[in-house]
Amino acid sequence: MKGTDESSKQGANLLTPELIRSFPKVELHRHLEGSFPVRSLFEIAHKNGLDMPSDYDAFKEQVQFPKDSEPDFLKFLSKFKNTWYRSFDDVYRIAYDSVKEFANDGLYYIELRFSPEHFAFHNNFDRNKITKLVIQAGNDAAAEIDLKIKYLITFNRSKQDQNEMSALYEEIKRLNLPDIVGMDLAGDEINFPPELFTEFFSKVNSDGVYKSTIHAGEVSASDQIWKAVKLLGASRIGHGTSCVDDEELKAYLTEHQVVLEQCITSNYQTGSWVDEKNHPLGRLYREGVPVSINSDDPFIQDTDLTDDYVKTVRYFGFTIDDLIALNLTALRSVFLSDSEKQNLIDEYTRRVAAFRKKYGI
Ligand SMILES: [Zn+2]
Repeated sequence: MKGTDESSKQGANLLTPELIRSFPKVELHRHLEGSFPVRSLFEIAHKNGLDMPSDYDAFKEQVQFPKDSEPDFLKFLSKFKNTWYRSFDDVYRIAYDSVKEFANDGLYYIELRFSPEHFAFHNNFDRNKITKLVIQAGNDAAAEIDLKIKYLITFNRSKQDQNEMSALYEEIKRLNLPDIVGMDLAGDEINFPPELFTEFFSKVNSDGVYKSTIHAGEVSASDQIWKAVKLLGASRIGHGTSCVDDEELKAYLTEHQVVLEQCITSNYQTGSWVDEKNHPLGRLYREGVPVSINSDDPFIQDTDLTDDYVKTVRYFGFTIDDLIALNLTALRSVFLSDSEKQNLIDEYTRRVAAFRKKYGI
């Protein structure tokens, strides 16, 4: 779209994986539960005497989706477990260690999503305490690596019904934590379509405290994206790949600047979009539909956000100008006030200028 002049062409050639790693990035779609450092999890599992391999490589194989494996949705899902923790210290440590590792991806700003249920369920920990603890751990780590961080609360379609979601939502709202900026709906799209959650999201929308992002159109048709936007009032969409052939929807998303949080590697591994070279992200970006690059669950995927960026350069020929444009699109859709957003954009622009100067691209 942009950057067809000579300097940008040269910039594309200079975009090595090493350079892309330190490029300042904004991430809108990453699950904390899918971001654990394997080493930390290994230590927690053994400290708690869990029935897991004592050999590190065997452990790694069991908890991650093998990088080069064929796509397999059920195998991918089977990697998510919530039985690791036995104490608040375990939860603090895994959240802290996870965020600390984000430094390796050159992250500038992230809206990190997590499910209090995931961390609380096995031990029936107090959900409010867990929510505060995860945020404290994340903030402590973020401060050490100069990362700006906010949080989204994930609700799982198949694990909580609307009433349970509302009860947890009300408690979270009462905590009045400014670091929580939005709500996320995740999980089984096929058996739990958006219309089952209309009442809950009407409440969230009428309160006006939080914005919402909804996983939709990842493994379902584009009608679910329509419903996520129209019935649930989604401000952003998780994945949304099935919009690619729905012209009316693309026009709507563009007009209303509903950003699609897309995740190339995740889509390959789950089998939701196997042909990576022709992933919709490239085409949608060229068509002017607002999209962003995200990792989803890098720990499960045995990869990182940098790898998703490298793929966009390799497959779609994205230049440095394209990457900057994509990150500015992401920043314009963060769940913050206009003035906070503008401050983030101003600082991002300065950081990117410094990056370009430093590396001469
Ligand atoms: Zn996701």
